[in-house]
Amino acid sequence: MSVSLSPLDYPLPAQPTAFVISGNRVLLNSEQPGPRPYTLSVYQGLIHRIIPGHFSVQTIEPHLPRLTAELPAGLIHDGQLGFWDIGDLWLMPGVIDAHVHVNQPGRTLWEGMTTASQAAAAGGCTTIVDMPLNAIPPTTTVDHAQTKVESVGDSCWVDVALWGGMVPGNDGDLLPLRDFGVRGFKGFLIDSGVPEFPMVESRDVLKALQVLEVGISIANLHATTLEKPPADPRQYTAFLESRPAAMEVDAIHAVISWLEAHPAVRGHIVHLSAAEALPLIKAAKARGVNLTIETCFHYLALSAQTIPAGATQYKCCPPIRDELNRDALWAALEEGLIDLVVSDHSPSTPDLKCPETGDFLAAWGGIASVQFGLSVLWTEAKRRGYECPRILLPWLCERPAQHIQLDQRKGRLQPGMDADMVIWDPEESFVVTPVGIHFRHKVTPYLGHTLYGRVHHTLVRGRVAFSTGLATESEPRLLIMRNRPSGTDDTPAYFSATPPGRIILEA
Ligand SMILES: [Zn+2]
Repeated sequence: MSVSLSPLDYPLPAQPTAFVISGNRVLLNSEQPGPRPYTLSVYQGLIHRIIPGHFSVQTIEPHLPRLTAELPAGLIHDGQLGFWDIGDLWLMPGVIDAHVHVNQPGRTLWEGMTTASQAAAAGGCTTIVDMPLNAIPPTTTVDHAQTKVESVGDSCWVDVALWGGMVPGNDGDLLPLRDFGVRGFKGFLIDSGVPEFPMVESRDVLKALQVLEVGISIANLHATTLEKPPADPRQYTAFLESRPAAMEVDAIHAVISWLEAHPAVRGHIVHLSAAEALPLIKAAKARGVNLTIETCFHYLALSAQTIPAGATQYKCCPPIRDELNRDALWAALEEGLIDLVVSDHSPSTPDLKCPETGDFLAAWGGIASVQFGLSVLWTEAKRRGYECPRILLPWLCERPAQHIQLDQRKGRLQPGMDADMVIWDPEESFVVTPVGIHFRHKVTPYLGHTLYGRVHHTLVRGRVAFSTGLATESEPRLLIMRNRPSGTDDTPAYFSATPPGRIILEA
């Protein structure tokens, strides 16, 4: 066989529709005991074949018939097949961040899709799921969802899916939204912080659960209840005391009782912070309550004792709690009580973080971190003695894919699945600096932190969304190329290969 390959240092902007990628340290899924040499072929955005072994451009040829079986013959004879040897870099499924506030349209001064999705790509995320609030209008009706689709246009650097919103009086909008394609619904059991997304009370949730029982959707509930009066506002403890763990426990208790009355609906607790709720969760799961739990990178990586006075970049709701709490969350994650980890990327304009006064009670409660989840979690896992990033796959890839009902396409590397991949070096460290941050405002508690796990390349459905090989500080647009399958026109398209009635946005 005469073969003409195009060796690639990285897939170039004019990317081939088919390429072969080979590496020494590949993690296909979490069942695999550790990194193994594998070679994968990718065709039109999907993983085509996977074979064991790491090959160079000199040694790959005998294996090409297996890797390209059933593909057009011209691919390997006309130089259309790219070959990419990543050597000792690690290859694993792309991260799915199931909780991101993008804020477009309406509050793009806080964050927009371009910057949020570029940051996601730079951090090894291949899919983000946008929360229904903080954008204006919120995603509480099909019209509002359509407004978002039109506003976002072609600015998605990674795959983007949507959550719908559950607010008082929109129970009639839930099924149409589900049919439109939202991955589930989020309601707040506390003031959301923005007036256009009012909190729901027990009767609203019960009404919604009755509607949702006819289909499989998710009541994605923000589990905190009422606030207590303020104390000295520059001290982090003042804010922490205003949001005691009992508030989360009470809210989760209520959620569990609603779910027990509506077993066809899966309930998902967003951003669990209080370890005090874990026994309740454990008992509910043991009883078979249809419940999943997420926590956030910051609750696992940071603790209240180390937050300086006035450092409002650490403020989020619910709050970062103490060191013992953090250890308990880790134990719950390891035990599987907590299912997945998300960023809850929730930026605002810098002034809303009250940097002048350092007032924790007045500052916007949200942490910007969509770019750093993989590295933050790996850095902390490493500190806790983990030697192989395999531990991250269920938390960041597999269970998030199940959570958003895209596990038939995403979350694992196997033939037929989307070629969503992150190529990174878990041993390489870097310092978080403003110039390296791609989200809109460079306000984050991780600024100045040294993190392990540098992302080298991110591929979304076989297309490069981020590549350090192209990086120059003066041309940030060149860092990240649009995630556009070849041959598509300029209009935003629905990702039609998802289950009937569900979409994710694609640019
Ligand atoms: Zn959130």
